[in-house]
Amino acid sequence: MTNPSNSEIDIVKSSKSKIKDVDFNNLVFGRIFTDHMFVCDFIDGVWQQPKIMPYQAMSFEPSARVFHYGQAVFEGMKAYKDENGKIWLFRPDENHKRINKSAARLAMPEFPRDYFLNGLETLLKMDKEWIKSGIGNSLYIRPFVIATEPAISASPANSYRFIIICSPAKAYYSGKVRVLFAEKYSRSANGGVGFAKAAGNYAAQFYPTALAQEKGYQQIIWTDASSHEFLEEAGTMNIFFRINDSLVTAPISDRILDGITRKSIIQLAEDNGITVEVKRVPVTEIKEAARNGSLKEIFGAGTAAVISPISAFEHAEEVFEIPDNEDSYASLFKKQLLEIQHNVSQDKHHWRHEVK
Ligand SMILES: *Cc1c(COP(=O)(O)O)cnc(C)c1O
Repeated sequence: MTNPSNSEIDIVKSSKSKIKDVDFNNLVFGRIFTDHMFVCDFIDGVWQQPKIMPYQAMSFEPSARVFHYGQAVFEGMKAYKDENGKIWLFRPDENHKRINKSAARLAMPEFPRDYFLNGLETLLKMDKEWIKSGIGNSLYIRPFVIATEPAISASPANSYRFIIICSPAKAYYSGKVRVLFAEKYSRSANGGVGFAKAAGNYAAQFYPTALAQEKGYQQIIWTDASSHEFLEEAGTMNIFFRINDSLVTAPISDRILDGITRKSIIQLAEDNGITVEVKRVPVTEIKEAARNGSLKEIFGAGTAAVISPISAFEHAEEVFEIPDNEDSYASLFKKQLLEIQHNVSQDKHHWRHEVK
């Protein structure tokens, strides 16, 4: 990893905050951005001096490689404010490691840890008014890297830009979702980039998801690309099944993203004495469990929605309804995660990271 000579951040403050114009009670996810952003360029094999500047439009040459070959990776994380005004991140080292794994798979340079954490913490302190306290409120953080070199030959770029932007987010109950098990389309394949948070993975999902939405389903549950017989991910989230009282989820592979929410839920389940089985999940097994009543819940897990309960699924033209559950694992894990994230409950695994 190449560390530049000058890691001190060059800061230009915005002359006027936009925060007064924001209605924090009616936030639409991902539409409004804070006053500042973090930017760092990679040129000639070296990360240059990082900068924080007012959030603003950027200009790129139309030949910038990201527009042609999709060399782009990103992360999704959140900052929280507790009742005493302290700011917290949740397992930020995991996001840093993962963006570098994603970058390596797309032949992009790794970003140094101290740049990532110092840059992010400095940015959060500058925009701290944008983080509202109260369970469910958060600041969504989007670090990403794009290939900026102006050249359309099909090879990895020599220059990149690492950027962090932030968007205030409000917890809202979006209701349970109805999903379609994938039988034709795939999100990822063996040896592919499914484990990476590559921008193109999302682009590839939009069309099949739009088809599912025309049929009345909000999301697709992705199955393995070769047989479509095993359940792997819930749209852009990891997936969990509750069969009687045990929790089942698919193992991480090169097709499945190693979600931080997923691994935290596996740990919380163990803490709660709930049996977790990490194994391949056959579609036939879930249909059978739905028929005989042992399928109690299905939910997606990811940073943005935390946990997203699923109320019904369709596979091979057959619809299965999942009855409501009073003591759902979905609400248990959501509550426990949010309380750890907001510094309300004890953090025995040291997942919280204070921004000082
Ligand atoms: C980001 C993402 C997740 C969730 O990961 P978290 O670290 O829990 O936010 C799951 N699946 C896919 C495909 C993702 O892109």
